Amino acid sequence: MSRLAVYPGSFDPVTKGHLDIIQRAARLFDFVIVAVSNNSAKRHTFSVSDRIEMIEGSIRGLPNVDVDTFSGLLVDYLRSKKSHILIRGVRVVSDMDYEFQLASFNRRLYKEVETVFLMPDEQYTYLAASMVKEVARLGASVDPFVTPVVARTLKRTLKRSR
Ligand code: ADP
Repeated sequence: MSRLAVYPGSFDPVTKGHLDIIQRAARLFDFVIVAVSNNSAKRHTFSVSDRIEMIEGSIRGLPNVDVDTFSGLLVDYLRSKKSHILIRGVRVVSDMDYEFQLASFNRRLYKEVETVFLMPDEQYTYLAASMVKEVARLGASVDPFVTPVVARTLKRTLKRSR
């Protein structure tokens, strides 16, 4: 039986930290779906289609990774994909506060689910999508933190919102 893992998140936008986690998951599992959340309660800088395009443009060369979107409960999405493997990234110990709560909650809703926590390379432990946006707004280069397709979309989107 092939193992399908789901890596959910906002990816607003996808950073090199997220990509590091995607690569690790792609080595561990037969197939990985990066699932972009379309949760209307949360405000995002980028539309779902922009977030998907940025991920697709950043993962070329990873044949066992697909990008999708979901709304509603994550566990329902997992069930619909017949997956019980949930990937999350943990940068620092303080991330675990929230991640532990989320994993416990998801297990309560779907008892077969296993959340797998992966650590990125240490150069990405400080990296957050919110900081990348702040750096871009302040006019500095985001090249160390995101792929060229994300840097271009960031520039275009910020110009439009000014
Ligand atoms: P969410 O709103 O679901 O937390 P994010 O896009 O912020 O969505 O994060 C998705 C997942 O990726 C989370 O598990 C988060 O901890 C992880 N993550 C975010 N930034 C990094 C990074 N720099 N390195 C590794 N994991 C990260």
